[in-house]
Amino acid sequence: MVKLDNRVAIVTGGSRGIGAAIAKTLAAHGIKVVINYNSNSDAANQVVSEIEEAGGTAFASQADVSDAAQARVLVEETINRYGQLDILVNNAGITRDRTFRKISEEDWNQVIQVNLNSVYNTTSAALAHIQQSDAGRIISISSIIGQAGGFGQANYAAAKAGMIGFTKSLALELAKSGTTVNAICPGFIDTEMVQAIPDEIRQQIVAKIPARRFGAPEEIARGVLFLCQDGEYITGQQLNINGGLYM
Ligand code: NAD
Repeated sequence: MVKLDNRVAIVTGGSRGIGAAIAKTLAAHGIKVVINYNSNSDAANQVVSEIEEAGGTAFASQADVSDAAQARVLVEETINRYGQLDILVNNAGITRDRTFRKISEEDWNQVIQVNLNSVYNTTSAALAHIQQSDAGRIISISSIIGQAGGFGQANYAAAKAGMIGFTKSLALELAKSGTTVNAICPGFIDTEMVQAIPDEIRQQIVAKIPARRFGAPEEIARGVLFLCQDGEYITGQQLNINGGLYM
C-alpha cells in the first residue's frame, strides 16, 4: 500500500462532476490537489474551499488543457507551488453528440482535441516530474462508450477508445519505472453531462443498467483512490465502474 500523505495530484476539469469528486476524495486522503478548470473559477474555488474546510490542501489553476502551452503552464504552476508531481488524472472531457452524418468537422475536431489531445498535452508536460516519484500514477477517465460504442457518439467513442490505446502503450513503456498508467471507464454517472440527456432517454438507459441506477461521481473517485493507493502492480488496465452495463 502506498502512503498518500503529501503526494501531489493534478485533476483536469476538477471544478465539477466526476473531477470535483476525485479532487475531494484524494484531498481527504492527504494528497495536495491542483484543481484545473477551464472557465468556471467560482466553481473551482468552491471545491478548493470545501477541501480546505475539511483540512485538506488544494489550489485552483486555470488552463484549457486542449492547448499544449496552457497544459505546460499548469504543470509548471504545480511544481512551483508544491515542488513535485506524483499523480495526473486526465478527467477533462466534452461531448458533441450527433449521429455521424450530422457530425461537422468542427464537432469531430473539438471532441478529439479536448478529450484525447489534451491527454497528450498534460502527460507530455508532466511525465518527467511524475517519473521522479516512487509511486507515479497516470489515470485517464475514458468511458464505457470507448469500449462499446455509443449511438450518436462516433467522435466521443473515438477519443475515449484512443485514451485506452494510449494507456496500454504508455503503460508498457513505463512499467519498469514504477509509474503505472491506467484508464477508468465509467458507465453512466449522474453529473451535468448525463443530466443533459433528455429525460425519456435517461429512463431508457437506467432500465438497461443491471444495477438499475446511474453511478455517483464518488464511485469513480474511489476507483482513482484505489489505483493511487493499492495499484502498484496494476498497469495498462481499464477499470470498469458501470453497474454491470458492459462486461
Ligand atoms: P462534466 O461536464 O460535469 O465535467 C467535465 C469537466 O471538464 C468540466 O469541469 C469542464 O469544464 C472540464 N473541461 C472541459 N473542457 C476542458 C478543457 N479544455 N480544459 C480544462 N477543463 C475542461 O462531466 P463529467 O460527467 O464530470 O465527466 C468527467 C469525465 O468523465 C469526462 O472526461 C467524461 O467524458 C467522463 N465520463 C463521464 C461519464 C458520465 O456518465 N458522466 C461517463 C463516462 C465518462
